[in-house]
Amino acid sequence: MLELLLPPPVDPLWDLTEAYGADARPERLNLVLGVYRDQTGGTPVMAAVREAEIRLAERSASKEYRGLSGNTAFNRAMLSMVLGPGGAAERAVAVQTVAGSGALRLLADLICRTRPGTTVWISNPAYVNHRPILEAAGLTVRTYGWLDAEGLFDTAGMLRDLGEARRDDVVLLQGCCHNPTGVDPSAQAWEAVAELAAEHGWVPFVDLAYHGLGDGLEADLAATRLLAERVPEMLVAISCSKNFGLYSDRTGCAVVLGASRQSLRHVETALQNAARTLYSMPPEHGAAVVTAILEDDGLRALWRAELDGMRARIEDNRRGLTAELTALGWGARADVLARQKGMFSMLPLTARQMLRLRSRFAIYGTTAGRINIAGIPAHRIPCLAQGVAAVLGE
Ligand code: PLP
Repeated sequence: MLELLLPPPVDPLWDLTEAYGADARPERLNLVLGVYRDQTGGTPVMAAVREAEIRLAERSASKEYRGLSGNTAFNRAMLSMVLGPGGAAERAVAVQTVAGSGALRLLADLICRTRPGTTVWISNPAYVNHRPILEAAGLTVRTYGWLDAEGLFDTAGMLRDLGEARRDDVVLLQGCCHNPTGVDPSAQAWEAVAELAAEHGWVPFVDLAYHGLGDGLEADLAATRLLAERVPEMLVAISCSKNFGLYSDRTGCAVVLGASRQSLRHVETALQNAARTLYSMPPEHGAAVVTAILEDDGLRALWRAELDGMRARIEDNRRGLTAELTALGWGARADVLARQKGMFSMLPLTARQMLRLRSRFAIYGTTAGRINIAGIPAHRIPCLAQGVAAVLGE
């Protein structure tokens, strides 16, 4: 049987991470994966998470199976955090998933079960796993523009492309801190997107993976809440990997909003059925930790302070890199970088130049020019800027 297996494509990000692992140069810098790193280059467990874990261990909760929707208190906490006090949570269903990726896949399955072959629009460029997840579920993928020639958000281009989306289509939108570009729509542009969705009738599918790491938690959720107010139906994939630092605990949530509670009557069972055939039930630990944090005022405040601290470090790093590049004569290109948000920035380098950055300076970003801003120790910012300037000038 196995001789029939054709060589599969390798995941480009994990392939680069392996290459980094094999690089013996002491100055090597890994800016490939979307993982928050502190000044020492580590990804420590957040203090709020650690405290919640201690409390959970002391309570020695049973490890008996949870229901098919996972931890229901976690699901309620996710609805209230993401949709806010506006009342949208009243017409929503939430199911715990295996992190953000599991939520994307489960919701893609739901779309397919509802209307097989549906077209889902994703941004160009998009998160590297959007297209594979959607196509694996049997959906058709089309793309809409994201950046203009200067590397800023292209409102006109996006609206023009989405003008072609039909009533039966779904449009996948990253709610904040766009991966890979770090470029987000302005508040006015989000208004225009919401208006288009309401007018044309397509369903927004919001991917939330970096809320809290852009302009702050509430600000980063504003676009999602705006869309929830304006359209009858919407899907939301939530990841707790980055903002709770629960990467390996695989914690996330799939949310479906309907025009009314009655319209949602089959949704939870359909999501449960999809999960049952993929992985049966999601892991409990991360969801229990998040719930313990969000349900306790003290732990919640501690978590928010830590999250704000992470965001501030990312901002400092981006400001530092921009200042160095400005000093090296980058002018307007440095301004474009300064306006980016969240864990990633997109360098205006070609694939060849990114390869040179790797071979000459042991600095690893993706071939498309994406770097993890949170992965740079502050004292290495000048050397990153010099490396980038050097390969650009070659
Ligand atoms: N969506 C986006 C835009 C991402 O960048 C990521 C992870 O990098 C995910 C979803 C999935 O995250 P996870 O499955 O680790 O929660």
